[in-house]
Amino acid sequence: MSIRKVKLSLKSRSTLEGAGVRLKRAFGYADESLDPFLLLDDFSSNNPIDYLPGFPWHPHRGIETITYILHGKVEHKDSLGNGGVIGSGDVQWMTAGSGIIHQEMPKAMDGDPELMGFQLWANLPASHKMMDPRYRGITQREIPEVNIDNKVKIKVISGEINGVKGPVQDVVTNPEYLDLSIDPNHQFSHKVTRDHNVFAYVISGEAYFDDDHIQLIDQKNLVIFRNGDEIYIKTEEKPVRFLLISAKPLKEPVAWRGPIVMNTEEELENAFREFKNGTFIKHSSKVDY
Ligand code: FE
Repeated sequence: MSIRKVKLSLKSRSTLEGAGVRLKRAFGYADESLDPFLLLDDFSSNNPIDYLPGFPWHPHRGIETITYILHGKVEHKDSLGNGGVIGSGDVQWMTAGSGIIHQEMPKAMDGDPELMGFQLWANLPASHKMMDPRYRGITQREIPEVNIDNKVKIKVISGEINGVKGPVQDVVTNPEYLDLSIDPNHQFSHKVTRDHNVFAYVISGEAYFDDDHIQLIDQKNLVIFRNGDEIYIKTEEKPVRFLLISAKPLKEPVAWRGPIVMNTEEELENAFREFKNGTFIKHSSKVDY
């Protein structure tokens, strides 16, 4: 077994997105060590001014998004006719495929302005770029938690740990998506597939993310790993909570502008042309937007 070394850790950066949402972007670029993932946004804030502008009606094509709300609520509507509220602990995933138009509007809860949540973009392979769009949501109760010796707690969103399967099962790139909490003064190893890309994003606390024990990495940091077949995490006096996400890279060309990610510039131009002339949506539209 070889332990993956930390290749780099990067602090997330303040970004304005949507209609003026102030969020932290962990990454938002196509990179061979993050492939098939394209973006991870952290829209956690205690101030509703940061998130209330929301993400009004906008299109997507060629990707899947996975939104995980740890605290607070986000109202969602899309051109397929789906609508609802994602609440604390809930996950929604959306396959844009050939095209979807949706809006995602964070709301402040009475007397509790805190919002905590993440959106991950997973690329679609060329063979699935134009698949039918779909939307699924699951509630916090449906997400299993694996408890190891009362020291490590793992919410399994997708993938499998000790025979416990996460409920998010049909994302095309089949990622493993875990929310891990580790107690202070503890170490934890997790097997990963050798040719998969793996990253972590620290939600709170701090830990060493490999066995060199060089640097404690704390909240709002993205951790990108080198090759190997095991992840090793060690805490000191603080606990740590982080997302651990991995998948097999697609190794395909990426043509990306805003909310649309295709393989070629021509496909990209076509998508924007279709959006302008009203032929972007391929599914029979069920709602006005
Ligand atoms: Fe969106």
